[in-house]
Amino acid sequence: MKPIPDHAVNRLRLWRKSVSTRPFLARGGSVPRCDACQLRHDWCACDWRPALKAKAGFCLMMYDSEPMKPSNTGRLIADVLPDTTWAFLWSRTEPHPELLALLADPAWQPYVVFPACEKEPTRLTSVVTPAPGKKPLFILLDGTWPEARKMFNKSPYLDGFPVLAIKPDALSTYGMRVAHSDEHLCTAEVAACVLEVAGELQAGQALQLWFNLFSSRYMAGRVSRAPGEDETPLLQGLEAIKGQAAALD
Ligand SMILES: [Zn+2]
Repeated sequence: MKPIPDHAVNRLRLWRKSVSTRPFLARGGSVPRCDACQLRHDWCACDWRPALKAKAGFCLMMYDSEPMKPSNTGRLIADVLPDTTWAFLWSRTEPHPELLALLADPAWQPYVVFPACEKEPTRLTSVVTPAPGKKPLFILLDGTWPEARKMFNKSPYLDGFPVLAIKPDALSTYGMRVAHSDEHLCTAEVAACVLEVAGELQAGQALQLWFNLFSSRYMAGRVSRAPGEDETPLLQGLEAIKGQAAALD
């Protein structure tokens, strides 16, 4: 049994589980999984999980049962940046007091990461330029696309912040994407792009590699076959990042 990393998304998942009145039946929930990486035991990837430090922070606003889903990729962000990732369940009218305190903290410059802002186009930006002395805090709306849109439109406490719209095709991490039919990037891929825009190249690359390994093995777990992708470059990349991070410690 691998130890479960102590970070915001895992804490939220355990809490959410504890307040559920009935067992959560996620797609793929019947498969026995490693509690730490949520992959089938024979495909456990815990040994390759990179944990780094970055100046940038992430604030995940998770929709309802999102933290419980084995396929959730917001968790991968907290895996890679455990010290600067926060996670909250979304509420339109009763945002968590710790969320409001984080958004008001003068150490951070919040950006809402979202592709468009039709009502107020002046809020849109494609660059990250926090004021001197502030670090960027990226607010990610973690759910399906309609859920993310609902959270964006119905969270008055986010209304004052700039909206960071990323153009993934201009970024190097985009070339490492696993092909999938959905045209929208998933939460971890968006975060990898955002890290690149913020100049956090190592963390962005680590997250993209960790996501690629997770999704290759997750798909393998679903159809009970070996991972479809050749994992050698992923594993070598993650090993190299681990080595660099250890050298900095
Ligand atoms: Zn594992």
